[in-house]
Amino acid sequence: MLLKKYSSYKIGGRCNYLFFPENTYNLKSLLEFAKSRKLTPLVFGYGTNILFPDKPSKEYCFISLRNLRDVALNENKLYLGSGVPISILAVIGILSASSKFYFSHLLPGSTGGAIYMNARCYGGEISEIVKRIFYLDENLSLREIEKEKCSFDYKDSIFQKKNWVILGAEFEIENKLEKENFDKIMKFLKKIKYKNLSDLKDFYNMFNLKKISKFFGIKDLPDKIVEIENDRVSKHHFDFPSCGSYFKNNYAAGKPTGKIIDELGLKGYRVGGAKVSDFHANFILNYKNATKNEVVTLMEFLQKKVYEKEGFIPEPEVKIVDEKPASPKA
Ligand SMILES: Cc1cc2nc3c(=O)[nH]c(=O)nc-3n(C[C@H](O)[C@H](O)[C@H](O)COP(=O)(O)OP(=O)(O)OC[C@H]3O[C@@H](n4cnc5c(N)ncnc54)[C@H](O)[C@@H]3O)c2cc1C
Repeated sequence: MLLKKYSSYKIGGRCNYLFFPENTYNLKSLLEFAKSRKLTPLVFGYGTNILFPDKPSKEYCFISLRNLRDVALNENKLYLGSGVPISILAVIGILSASSKFYFSHLLPGSTGGAIYMNARCYGGEISEIVKRIFYLDENLSLREIEKEKCSFDYKDSIFQKKNWVILGAEFEIENKLEKENFDKIMKFLKKIKYKNLSDLKDFYNMFNLKKISKFFGIKDLPDKIVEIENDRVSKHHFDFPSCGSYFKNNYAAGKPTGKIIDELGLKGYRVGGAKVSDFHANFILNYKNATKNEVVTLMEFLQKKVYEKEGFIPEPEVKIVDEKPASPKA
């Protein structure tokens, strides 16, 4: 099984174990299996913020939670399973006039991945709209945690420091979502069940406003949503395989990392098949059959250049998976 198929970077070699559990019971069995074989489980969603190795060690057990797609609505409480594409929140926002959800329009990735990363864009952030999160702890016990206890910070959450697996989360909708609209959401999710949302072109094809408006019969689109789509499209987010912004911003530097790289004149700079986007200098693209090593070599070059100019080494936002696990789990 090739990991590249499940990565928006389209990078990642053949692995020994790759599973797609359909429910928590399945997932627990897989984690127990990994433990019994002394494998290191690596849980992910749609692979839109992760750089897989070209030759992953046989000691890994990769588990994508993209099939954990339960959705439930109780009054204004909405439960989304970890594998539900997070961009659906924007659709729910449009259908219920809940503007706090708009920012997630065309945000690639899963609900679990967005919580883990505390995804943010266009003035919104996951930590502002999530209420509580359900997860498996290191002993595989089912737990829940209120958002106030999740240490949410810039591109950070408690989940990055713990060995926990996010199962799903509860969100609060500002206004009522009518049953008829909830049913349409379920129908839409069923329709896209077998689409590979790690492929950015497929993702855009499913979630662009033309498709969404037609499917849901939406006549008036909020300006903010239109602006978001125009911005992402104008920056060519879905034209080449990537993981979005590669580096975090360093707010002490006073300007975004992409702007610094742009000022260095490095847009378009290439290492093998990896290239700094011509349209957004913080995007490292898989321009032409890039390997992980080419992306990492380009990353290190950019870090060196930024350090020479600004005196700090930009920290990658993308999660880089080593060829071998650091230390096999007991
Ligand atoms: C074109 C493009 C544009 C993007 N724009 C933005 C943007 O504007 N703002 C932004 O914040 N991000 C952006 N991203 C990054 C990405 O969309 C988000 O980080 C997304 O939330 C990742 O979700 P995922 O399911 O793909 O996570 P993955 O890439 O699969 O995983 C990311 C990390 O989360 C961990 N993880 C995932 N799911 C779980 C789980 N259930 N339990 C425990 N750990 C888990 C993984 O181990 C990994 O370390 C962009 C990416 C692309 C490709």
